[in-house]
Amino acid sequence: MSVRTAEIVGAGFAGLTAAAALARRGWSVRVHESASELRAFGAGIFLWENGLRVLAEIGALDRVLEGSYEAPSWDDRTADGELMAAIPMPLPGGGRMVTMTRHHLHTALVECAEAAGATILTGRHAAGADPEGRLWFSDGAVTADVVIGADGIKSAVRDSLGLPARLERFDVGVYRVLVDRKLAPDHSMWRHYVNFWDTVKKRRILYVPCAGDSLYLLLGAKADDTEALRVPFDRSTWQASYPLLADAIGGIADNPRFDYYERVTLTSWRAGRVFIVGDAAHAMPPTLGQGAGTAMGNAFHLAVCLDSFRDVETAGRAWERDARPDTDTTQQVSVNRLEELFPEQGARLPEHWKDDEVGISRRVPRTVHQ
Ligand SMILES: Cc1cc2nc3c(=O)[nH]c(=O)nc-3n(C[C@H](O)[C@H](O)[C@H](O)COP(=O)(O)OP(=O)(O)OC[C@H]3O[C@@H](n4cnc5c(N)ncnc54)[C@H](O)[C@@H]3O)c2cc1C
Repeated sequence: MSVRTAEIVGAGFAGLTAAAALARRGWSVRVHESASELRAFGAGIFLWENGLRVLAEIGALDRVLEGSYEAPSWDDRTADGELMAAIPMPLPGGGRMVTMTRHHLHTALVECAEAAGATILTGRHAAGADPEGRLWFSDGAVTADVVIGADGIKSAVRDSLGLPARLERFDVGVYRVLVDRKLAPDHSMWRHYVNFWDTVKKRRILYVPCAGDSLYLLLGAKADDTEALRVPFDRSTWQASYPLLADAIGGIADNPRFDYYERVTLTSWRAGRVFIVGDAAHAMPPTLGQGAGTAMGNAFHLAVCLDSFRDVETAGRAWERDARPDTDTTQQVSVNRLEELFPEQGARLPEHWKDDEVGISRRVPRTVHQ
């Protein structure tokens, strides 16, 4: 039987997972990445049990856990550091939740995909695809049994197919940075994950130790908080809100990564031989830390469906039927949680973590070992 071929657009977490899973099943796989070098943006990342189980399926788990961190507690504190709530980790009845730099996760996935035999090409910006399995670049096209569009929120592959898509932007903006953990004061809480709330100004800093001395900070504010979200980044505004974290904020480099929270919803994730996966198909606000976990799970499940059924229509139908309900739920719960992120002064803090949220973190595609 001839070797089946896949052209994948995007060397992000979804594209690399699909590449590794297909190549491990004997497919000839090429990944086309528009950036001139392989790298991940966005500082740090949380991975829950579901994401970790997918990594195990593609043989990347040990490598990822080697450079990950698992905190003993999830705390809520005032901007001045007063403890409001603490939840021991792991959560009761829940699975693991670990943190790492994005660079670490990305490197592990690149190594895993290449070790499985996938070829990753950089500086290859795809312009679009058609349902017959042709993938277009400015200088020509390639054809494959399947094309996978894993090219993120602004997906050119998705848009070229004309798949009806709904893109929403929410009124929350975030800066994400890595700083040296030695810039945090020396106190036992500095080993915990901590949400620091400025309920007066409605700002939040999520404090996330990663492995070694890497400290991931996510600084969030409402879109109308022009002081906090000023460009270029204004350290003094954040230091005034968070004197306790002044040194760590002072360590933030110029022009940190900035994003709004967004959601992408498609009526269908496929057209003929082309499949859309990851943020390109189902981006969600990161309030549950599930975007990448969901992207990797769906990419893995897609690979197994494609490999199991020679007919791409049957494979695609099975994939969407299985993956869509959990993905829709995860997206919706992430959006619901967004409403709770910036409570009024004196209002109750969001409850960490509710049963449905913890349940989501344990749900894996049926092709992942249960
Ligand atoms: C503030 C914030 C915090 C988050 N925190 C978490 C978290 O803690 N845990 C979690 O699980 N998720 C989190 N997420 C979500 C997570 O980052 C995404 O869900 C995940 O990165 C999606 O991966 P992806 O591979 O689908 O897309 P991307 O990571 O966007 O990768 C797409 C790749 O495609 C490439 N590309 C784009 N266009 C083209 C083209 N035309 N041709 C070729 N290549 C192209 C890009 O360069 C990129 O390498 C967070 C998101 C945000 C905004």
